[in-house]
Amino acid sequence: MTATLFHIPQPAVPVVGEAAVYPVRRVFCVARNYAGHAREMGSDPSREAPFYFTKPADALVPGGGEIPYPPATANLHHEVELVVALSAPVFRASPAEAARAVFGHAIGLDLTRRDLQTQAKDMGRPWCLGKAFEHSAPISPILRAAAPLVSGDITLEVNGEVRQHGDISDMIWPIPDLVAHLSNYYHLGEGDLIFTGTPEGVGPVRPGDVLTGRIAGLGELRLVIGPES
Ligand code: MN
Repeated sequence: MTATLFHIPQPAVPVVGEAAVYPVRRVFCVARNYAGHAREMGSDPSREAPFYFTKPADALVPGGGEIPYPPATANLHHEVELVVALSAPVFRASPAEAARAVFGHAIGLDLTRRDLQTQAKDMGRPWCLGKAFEHSAPISPILRAAAPLVSGDITLEVNGEVRQHGDISDMIWPIPDLVAHLSNYYHLGEGDLIFTGTPEGVGPVRPGDVLTGRIAGLGELRLVIGPES
């Protein structure tokens, strides 16, 4: 056995009704997958293939709870998203093949330092500082599924007021198409999560705010924004 200099915990997400957790290898995120959100961010939803960014697996906050308001931003935004978890190899797959690799679904929040993301966009720089920071990916437990989710309400409330509302069927690229497309670039499989994009209505949150994300059939994810770290 090889000695290690220090121990780093393996990020993992609980699975509904099971003792075993889902260990996470990678977290992929799709940038614009609902027409309304693409338009509110100033782009034309009809012309673009999906594009992606990633978050480190240890950005996950399984089960939600309270997180500190992140550093270096004055404009932290909520983006509620359907998350799909994979459990079988997928490479250069068809949508039908990709669908068979789905393990289950969860509710996720793609928290975004919008000011840093906007600055990066304006300067043609990567989005890492805006997207891939600590605590930026709260996620509910994963519910196993026999097939990809194709429809159902997706909402986000802030302090009890609905801010985002859409339907999974509004996705420009549904789960099988997304996974198939992404599989042209990566050997996807066990431990890979994909945040599938957010419906319109994104906006800022402040310390003390309570966020509740809901997707029909998946329950809810509750997050409290704590004081600045
Ligand atoms: Mn997003």
